[in-house]
Amino acid sequence: MKKMIANNGSGRSPWWRGPYRDGATFTWDLLYRCNYRCSYCWWEQKKLWGEFSKKYPPVPAQKWIDAWRRLGGRYGRARLDVLGGEPLATPDAAGFFAELSKHHDLVINTNLSPGRKELETLAARCVREAVYINASFHPEFAERESFLEKMRLLKEAGFPAAVFVVSYPPLIPQLPKIREFFSKAGIPVGVQVFQGTYRGRDYPAAFTEAEREALKTDAGLRSSEERWAYRVEERPTRGKLCCAGWFYGNVKADGEVYRCGGTGPGLETEARVGNLFQEDFELFPGPAPCPAGRCFCQEHIYLLEEQEKKCPDLVERWASGKRAQ
Ligand code: SF4
Repeated sequence: MKKMIANNGSGRSPWWRGPYRDGATFTWDLLYRCNYRCSYCWWEQKKLWGEFSKKYPPVPAQKWIDAWRRLGGRYGRARLDVLGGEPLATPDAAGFFAELSKHHDLVINTNLSPGRKELETLAARCVREAVYINASFHPEFAERESFLEKMRLLKEAGFPAAVFVVSYPPLIPQLPKIREFFSKAGIPVGVQVFQGTYRGRDYPAAFTEAEREALKTDAGLRSSEERWAYRVEERPTRGKLCCAGWFYGNVKADGEVYRCGGTGPGLETEARVGNLFQEDFELFPGPAPCPAGRCFCQEHIYLLEEQEKKCPDLVERWASGKRAQ
């Protein structure tokens, strides 16, 4: 717990806000199963659920825990952004995340569909300071009132949590009302930029000027010129030096680790780091040029030029090898 106390008591932002400054970060597709089928979901749009359930059979919980514990021993406490599918659909989610929260800081990205009882158990068992809940509100499947009630439950249990909404074109007009609804209860609302197809057009390139203006009301998206440029304007990244693979990785549901999610199909060879289940798994020895045309999600923050601005101490520590906490 040493690092968490330092984060909360030294005047620095909490660990979940902004880039993680204390060690490595991983996004982790724990499983490709979900009880929702949102129209804007990447897996749904590409019709990948069937193929992925065959390609990625469930991995025993203990195998994941052993691998993450081993990684912690080698590289120190890390931040794990747990994604899916729906991470809380994993069997005995409370026990699983409780164990992981002893070793790493967790951002659990959930659709918050589990019932009150399951959420209460999760809240009671996890190391509270090590878990942040990123709750995606999906209006096609979730009802606002009960979603808010669950957010309140987590807040009262002491868990920091925020709501996210996907900027799917039909949802953009509803954003002000959704933001007002949750903000009134003291719950922050952010926007995930929609990446996909709507009415035959590819997004984010197809956002109209009016839609771009509406997105600019999101504090997260307009928090830096870079964020807007990479996420909405699709600024090119090929050839730029990037720390992805060095102290950031994207872990698939079979333990395969790639530099990031932005280096998708066709770039597997350049982007592969190794397999988390291998005892001798190692990250890249330093920054390497980006092989992709553009960068997805928020991974552009791992470009060396951005890290040197925002987390120079982390870059220096990692370069000197003094990284274990
Ligand atoms: S810039 Fe983005 S796509 Fe390129 S290597 Fe870095 S994280 Fe991956």
